[in-house]
Amino acid sequence: MTYALVINSGSSSIKFQIVDPNSAASDDPFVSGLVEQIGEPNGRITIKHAGEKHATQLPIANHKVGLETSMAMLNELGCGPTQVEITAVGHRVVHGGMVFSVPELINDQVVEMIRDLIPLAPLHNPANIDGIEVAREILPNIPHVAVFDTGFFRDLPPAAALYAINAEVAAKNQIRRYGFHGTSHEFIAGQVPAMLDRPASTVNQIVLHLGNGASASAIKNGHPIDTSMGMTPLAGLVMGTRSGDIDPGIIFHLARNGGMSIDEIDNLLNRQSGVKGIAGVNDFRDLHRMISEENENAWLAYNVYIHQLRRLIGAYMIALGRVDAITFTAGVGENDAATRADALAGLAHYGIKIDKERNELRSGEPRQISTDDSTVRVFVVPTNEELAIAQKATALAAKLG
Ligand code: AMP
Repeated sequence: MTYALVINSGSSSIKFQIVDPNSAASDDPFVSGLVEQIGEPNGRITIKHAGEKHATQLPIANHKVGLETSMAMLNELGCGPTQVEITAVGHRVVHGGMVFSVPELINDQVVEMIRDLIPLAPLHNPANIDGIEVAREILPNIPHVAVFDTGFFRDLPPAAALYAINAEVAAKNQIRRYGFHGTSHEFIAGQVPAMLDRPASTVNQIVLHLGNGASASAIKNGHPIDTSMGMTPLAGLVMGTRSGDIDPGIIFHLARNGGMSIDEIDNLLNRQSGVKGIAGVNDFRDLHRMISEENENAWLAYNVYIHQLRRLIGAYMIALGRVDAITFTAGVGENDAATRADALAGLAHYGIKIDKERNELRSGEPRQISTDDSTVRVFVVPTNEELAIAQKATALAAKLG
């Protein structure tokens, strides 16, 4: 058996998995791990392997210490890089700009190109580079592959990609819609044609990735033609803590009249808004519990969320003309039957009919939740970005020999 190591490096944390690239999306990974509180005195490493959890607490000075200690823990558990065959290391990279569309074998030049994109993702790309540099040092003899969150959407049609702002300013500042969650949208969109028993090049579909972050995409004949996230992952749908689309004038108002700095507004819209901003919680399980207790703010937050979601679904139905499938994925999309039902309620007129029983059935498998006579097929398909990255990294490593 051969595996891929998948690394998702954040500013103060590293998530990693060792994955069999041939496993199913709903399978547990061979190993999963989390390094937390990097740079803090109370760092923590948690590893899950073979149904058991192993945790250790220690100061983790930097990403290198975090990853080295994790690999040593894995080797002690008998599942580390010296014991199992790892054929590729896949790195999640948030922003590939207009430079990267497909996964890229990492060398010094590619690292520099990802560094050049830091102004587009100042919080994410530096942390991604830290993870890449450390992992290349620790595992120098394994091919490392960068997989970009923006890649799937790089070739959006200009009408969807451009913002109607001054063209010179936009070009100078690389302002355009890049889209994010691309690995997940591509992974899901790739599975739907088989469920319809049709070639991908003939399928028009809408993918709704509803997790703590949330985004939608419209895919026509196999190619994305629009997506809800924009230049940054703040745009589009209402999310757990992010506002999604708002009137940009609100930002000027908060700066001029609300006494807030740019950083405070950034924090407000990214971390204190969305469902949490209205209801005080961002987890949909808490939200539904509060709604059942007749909490007015929770009910409002849910309705704002559903309203924005339906707006986008409507927009994409028009953009696509004919819709063959609508697919829900990610934490909310896979688990929250109420959100799915409310997102598509009352649309029988448009050929969309949800089967109540199918929708409420709990399952980790890809499944249809529309009725047999629904013209538009509605599915729930579990996403697994780590598995998708593992598959892409393994395929590229194999191709390059
Ligand atoms: P993700 O970002 O894809 O991991 O999704 C995480 C979010 O999924 C959580 O914040 C919850 O809002 C939601 N979620 C997870 N499990 C459930 C569940 N059983 N029912 C409703 N929502 C859920």
